[in-house]
Amino acid sequence: MLKNLVAQRVNPDVPSALSGLFVNDPDPHAISFAAGSPNERLFPVKEMQRAFNTAIEQQGAHLFQYQSMQGNLNLREKLVARIQKWGHVTTTADNVLVTVGGQQAIELVAKALLDPGDEMVVEVPTYVGALAAFDLYQPTYYSVDLQADGLDLDELEDTLKRHPGIKLLYTVPDYHNPTGITMSVAKRQALVTLANRYDFIILEDSPYRDLGYANLPLPAIKSFDTQDRVIFVSSLSKILMPALRTGWLVADGPILDAILKVRLASDLEANGVIHAAIANYMEENDLDQHVNVLKDHYRQQCTAMVAALENDFPEEVSFTRPKGGFFDWVTLPEELDAAALLSQQVIPQAHINYVPGTNFYPGRDVHNSLRLCFSGLSPAEISAGMGRLGEQVKAAVRE
Ligand code: PMP
Repeated sequence: MLKNLVAQRVNPDVPSALSGLFVNDPDPHAISFAAGSPNERLFPVKEMQRAFNTAIEQQGAHLFQYQSMQGNLNLREKLVARIQKWGHVTTTADNVLVTVGGQQAIELVAKALLDPGDEMVVEVPTYVGALAAFDLYQPTYYSVDLQADGLDLDELEDTLKRHPGIKLLYTVPDYHNPTGITMSVAKRQALVTLANRYDFIILEDSPYRDLGYANLPLPAIKSFDTQDRVIFVSSLSKILMPALRTGWLVADGPILDAILKVRLASDLEANGVIHAAIANYMEENDLDQHVNVLKDHYRQQCTAMVAALENDFPEEVSFTRPKGGFFDWVTLPEELDAAALLSQQVIPQAHINYVPGTNFYPGRDVHNSLRLCFSGLSPAEISAGMGRLGEQVKAAVRE
């Protein structure tokens, strides 16, 4: 069997944790709260087209040559200025690696740090794409719960005491996917103190950090790093466009060297044509002003969703109240299975789609939660869809 020739770490009998997220919606007429994509009606297409044209006109053939393993210097300097201003991180362009989306940054970190069986911590629930990347390197996972203000640090410390070999912790501190939760500043600082004490690395994944509806971004965990232990990852997918496939990381010392080594082996360098266009876009336009427009839209969408959860759902159901980002996390009574509810009732009867929560847990062992994404829908669509979903949930709770 050819399957036997596939590397064991790929585990050919188990689909990627990500595969469930990128299937087409089964019902084209459904209102879908499933896809976690940014709203394409808000993409600055004309401005980006001009930025591409400018790059080609200015650089000609040279633009299409091999360029830089770490990514376009002009772009890296602009990213450094942003993370310095908004995240309070002091760094230089030499410490930045531009990647193919934040996803590649996570995968490169996993490849650079994890040997089979290495112990790592993830908050639960967590981003499925990160689990898909980590899974390939066969770590032993320990799960730590999220609280309303981020990771439960007492539970984390207990876990660290019981498993002193833990070497990596993955967290999404800002407007978390899938819950919308944001880690408090006090916890960010305390987490770095724990990393120093228990000798582990923090992978801070923050693609939504600019999208606080009413707030400025909080200081990054990386801003509290005194021992080069924090790897900061972000992305332009949510604030510009995902098909640019441009993410980036900030790291230091031997950790950065290891990541650069695996990057070279992986794809030599990212797409320099796109980097040059983005750098031009950022020169010719005010990215912060564009982000403000996005924040305004996403705030209205989130408000519509939370209002519907308050008004149309039974009191046995709990949910988060995000202050930014794309997602709300809903917890049903324990006896309900969100995947079964979706396939047996919600899709066929209400034509609504969402992502069942099970995939967001490394053990796939929690069944009564679900992720709702509101980014692609108008407030009116959200209210209508949530009304229909609420009816199904009420019926299931009463059964
Ligand atoms: N991290 C998180 C938490 C995400 O939600 C996503 C996108 N869904 C990514 C990383 C990766 O996004 P991209 O590769 O498009 O930057």
